Amino acid sequence: MQNHEQAIRVIASPGISVTSPIAMYVGLDERNPNRYITNMSHSGLGLPEREYYRRTDGVFPGLREQYVAHMGRTLELVGQTGGAAKAAAVMAFETQIAERHWVRADRRDRSRTYNLKTRAEIRALAPSFPWDAAFEASGLGGAQEVVISELSAMGPLAELFMATPIDTIKAYLSYHLVRNNASVLPSNIDAEIFDFHGRVLNGQPQQRERWKRAVAAVNGSLGEAVGQVYVQRHFPPAAKAQMLELVENMRTAYGQRIDALSWMSAETKVAAREKLATFRPKIGYPDRWRDYSALEVRAGDAFGNSKRAQIFDWEESVSRLDRPTDKDEWFMTPQTVNAYYNPVFNEIVFPAAILQPPFFDPNADPAVNYGGIGGVIGHEMGHGFDDQGAKSDAQGVLRDWWNAEDVRRFEEVTGRLADQYSAFEPLPGLPINGRLTLGENIGDNGGLQVAYHAYAISRGGREAQVIDGVTGDQRFFLGWAQVWRTLFREEALRNQVLNGPHSPGMYRANGPVRNMDAWYAAFDVTAEDDLYLPPDQRVTIW
Ligand SMILES: [Zn+2]
Repeated sequence: MQNHEQAIRVIASPGISVTSPIAMYVGLDERNPNRYITNMSHSGLGLPEREYYRRTDGVFPGLREQYVAHMGRTLELVGQTGGAAKAAAVMAFETQIAERHWVRADRRDRSRTYNLKTRAEIRALAPSFPWDAAFEASGLGGAQEVVISELSAMGPLAELFMATPIDTIKAYLSYHLVRNNASVLPSNIDAEIFDFHGRVLNGQPQQRERWKRAVAAVNGSLGEAVGQVYVQRHFPPAAKAQMLELVENMRTAYGQRIDALSWMSAETKVAAREKLATFRPKIGYPDRWRDYSALEVRAGDAFGNSKRAQIFDWEESVSRLDRPTDKDEWFMTPQTVNAYYNPVFNEIVFPAAILQPPFFDPNADPAVNYGGIGGVIGHEMGHGFDDQGAKSDAQGVLRDWWNAEDVRRFEEVTGRLADQYSAFEPLPGLPINGRLTLGENIGDNGGLQVAYHAYAISRGGREAQVIDGVTGDQRFFLGWAQVWRTLFREEALRNQVLNGPHSPGMYRANGPVRNMDAWYAAFDVTAEDDLYLPPDQRVTIW
């Protein structure tokens, strides 16, 4: 590797797995649900987030020192000389990358991150950068249009790359090549990578057992093959039928609540109702499984298997540029304990693994199911109506479909919710970022209120039974609290607060309930209690 263009070709080659300031991938076109498009976004940091390079308070300066020392050791472990000096140069490079990165909260603003550009327009962002080499080497040479996420950062990052000495780029790529492949490299290298990224940054005292990491590797490379086995063993068909009923009760409740909203105009309500009606639920697992027959798996070749799996995934994604979108595709495997809303397909997706206790149990008391999975269904529906998801219409197209007055009122009420969360301080000097977490918190706030409403619909006007002295409302809220039981080490908590769009679990449990009158009644909460909010400060959005 003699020059920057050669470096770009290496970075762009499928299966290499390094990092770089500019990343490319193929994804859905947010303005056209029927096609895939090439996307470009900024990337290239070894620490979790730009703030780790910038903050001068608390643990951050010490973490940076440890990071540089760790990079130096890693480079020497793989046979390079002068590790310390190279690591210092890499750190200076990454710090300059971080200075050009957008703040985390801006990166989730869908109005700012959809910037459709032609190849000629991209070349003009930084004429000295070998853009065409990057496209060709990655197999994207035919892409004529690209959506750039952080547009204002791209030119400066490309110029920074070209202005950085090639020896620094080589050290940077060497370190990240080792880091990203550590799990399939000799164990002394893997141990060094874990020591910093696992122990120092995340507070993990020791690596997970080897067999668990091996399972995770198979899960990562052959996810839907594992998923088929998982579904056979753990997902009875009756669970799917019961989930569909829950989803429909949630849809009914959401609709009734939209009709009753005082802040939304009649005109926007019609459009919101249309969007609600077209939400497509996907439950459990895909109808058609991914075909892995072209992926070669060789016994005893973990490194090769990992590389081939990455190339397989990349080539599959590039081939999409020539095809219409596959609306039956799943973006999570069935064995994932999670769920998602995809605005481009206007779909809510619940993998089989979240349809298990404590979220859902076909034999459980409905109060607990509505408080658990009901709240989660409502949360995912809520993403269709959160500060970002609401920017896509019923057909999944990113466009303005609200009138300006509704947007103003929505921002007023959601701004109050953001302020509530910004007042939570998980660690001293590190409050929750109410703007960064707003979408998730809107999802929780609306989701739990709608689930409570749907629970009432499910009883058809009957009072809930009291079981072992616990009322239906109490069991509903306990069901919600149960799904967010979480333990964090301090390091991981810091990472999540700075980087994650989700509030940490304890705030997901407490944040929504204090906005619901029913919770005050259920547990006799008064002004003496920590979570108490006066009635005029409680926020109802949906
Ligand atoms: Zn969410």
